Amino acid sequence: MQIPNQETIIALSTAPGVGAIAVIRLSGTESIRIVNGVFHGKNLNVQKSHTAHFGTIREDDSEDGKQGRIIDEVLVTLFIAPRSFTKENVVEISCHGSPFIVQQIIKLFLKKGVRLAKPGEFTQRAFLNGKFDLAQAEAVADLINADTEAAHRAALNQMRGGFSDQIKQLRQELIHFASMIELELDFGEEDVEFADRQDLKDLVAKLLSVITLLANSFDLGNVIKNGVPTVIAGKPNAGKSTLLNALLNEEKAIVSDIAGTTRDFIEDEINLEGVVFRFIDTAGLRETEDKVEAIGVSRTREKMKQASLIIYLFDMKNDSLVEIHRDINMLENLGVPFIKVGNKVDEAQPELYEPLKKDNDVLFISAINKENLEALKNKLVETVNLDNFKTGDTVVTNIRHYDNLIQTQNALIAVMQGLDSDITGDFLAMDIRQALHYLGEITGEITTDDLLANIFSKFCIGK
Ligand code: GDP
Repeated sequence: MQIPNQETIIALSTAPGVGAIAVIRLSGTESIRIVNGVFHGKNLNVQKSHTAHFGTIREDDSEDGKQGRIIDEVLVTLFIAPRSFTKENVVEISCHGSPFIVQQIIKLFLKKGVRLAKPGEFTQRAFLNGKFDLAQAEAVADLINADTEAAHRAALNQMRGGFSDQIKQLRQELIHFASMIELELDFGEEDVEFADRQDLKDLVAKLLSVITLLANSFDLGNVIKNGVPTVIAGKPNAGKSTLLNALLNEEKAIVSDIAGTTRDFIEDEINLEGVVFRFIDTAGLRETEDKVEAIGVSRTREKMKQASLIIYLFDMKNDSLVEIHRDINMLENLGVPFIKVGNKVDEAQPELYEPLKKDNDVLFISAINKENLEALKNKLVETVNLDNFKTGDTVVTNIRHYDNLIQTQNALIAVMQGLDSDITGDFLAMDIRQALHYLGEITGEITTDDLLANIFSKFCIGK
């Protein structure tokens, strides 16, 4: 469904700045004809799709007949509708990667009535022209932003439609029942039942199990896409900054002998086997008299609650067993998974080491000597179970999809309860419609302008 006379849009599609080559993209019914007007080499209007042509781009000839100035030598690639990214006529101009040349070329086209593309507009057109559904369009953005192998794999899988197909198929089955029930309503008084209630129950149960599985995959999906927010918690001077530095291998945190000097949160990340751990360094675990430190401490607790993982670092040289057990107790009550790590084994008190060694979960390290850090890294990776993902199961990585899945789940539970308590068809139809609505929003079978604007405005210009 190509919209005729669609305005032609233009944008730089490669990263801004100096490069060997820059690619400028145009999309719209008129794009090939417009480019042909300034391109000198061949008549582009008669060329085949998916062909590349060398030539020059020139400014218009002056009124007194003087030939227009050459802006650049370029390679023009043609994609004729509907065989293009947007399903419209698309031209990609590869020019030399100077911001000045790019600007001159774009300016020339603006004079010809082309307009600058809005963020994500190419992808939005692809969606509106039926090239992909909404979840797939969103995956394009994820794919561009993916910086780990796992994130890349999840985005690619989604872009290729794996997740969407599942949702669409389920929705189709539900639509069938919805129409049966609506038909019953049309017959009103006559007390007919087109939709077999047991079949409907079976379908809703099946839907619920699939939806729940997808929704549950978001924990993992979120980790793949956004990393694991990790807090290193411990008393002042336990060696948190030293550990962070050792893990990051660079001097980003301030290391000092004075207790409580690490007052600011320093966020940094490491990539372990495709999972990103985002570290939030903290100022200490307990309340103190010191005002500045106290702020740090309350913030620490806040941060700890937001974290998905805590590394509890205690000091084998200076801490007492009572203190360590008290902290572990507190962490157990907090409910966030944590790893127990004893630092400064190089100067450990023997009376501390012996009893703690009995706990198999405790890791002993020396942050300063970078001793046993591999074990800690392995433990970090172990806490994130990527195994599910490796088997090729669908993983939901997008919070919008997750929200919709939860809403669908709630609506389906209402349908189930309605069936159990024999509610009337009109109420049943209402709950089914709700479920259909939320499912349809995931793939974009149901959209609003606000929803689209919100999704595509997050893209970069040129995408
Ligand atoms: P933070 O307050 O928890 O961030 O602690 P720091 O990282 O600033 O470290 C406090 C002190 O402990 C510094 O003097 C570090 O050199 C020292 N330290 C850190 N790790 C070790 C270790 O593994 N062994 C020993 N002996 N000292 C360490």
